[in-house]
Amino acid sequence: MNNIPFPVIVAVLFFLGADLVLYLHHRHQKRQRALPEQNDYMRDHGQHAPACIACGATELDEAGCCHATDTRRIVRCATCRTMLFQFQRPEVVSPD
Ligand SMILES: [Zn+2]
Repeated sequence: MNNIPFPVIVAVLFFLGADLVLYLHHRHQKRQRALPEQNDYMRDHGQHAPACIACGATELDEAGCCHATDTRRIVRCATCRTMLFQFQRPEVVSPD
């Protein structure tokens, strides 16, 4: 009944798993890049200070879009983890 060699099954499962991981990563990156800028977010929701639209919390976390030190910052609610907006952190110019 099962005449497919075991290493072939392992290889196919590996590539399908890798494809799934890449798909989920690209979908997450696309959602991050589609977030509104901070000023647009605050204007659209009538806020003077940024707050979560899902739960109302004012404690927010930020992280880099592509990597930890990316100047494109993604802001999430610290309570419910909803992605809220993005902003561009100014480049730090090293004195040399
Ligand atoms: Zn929230």
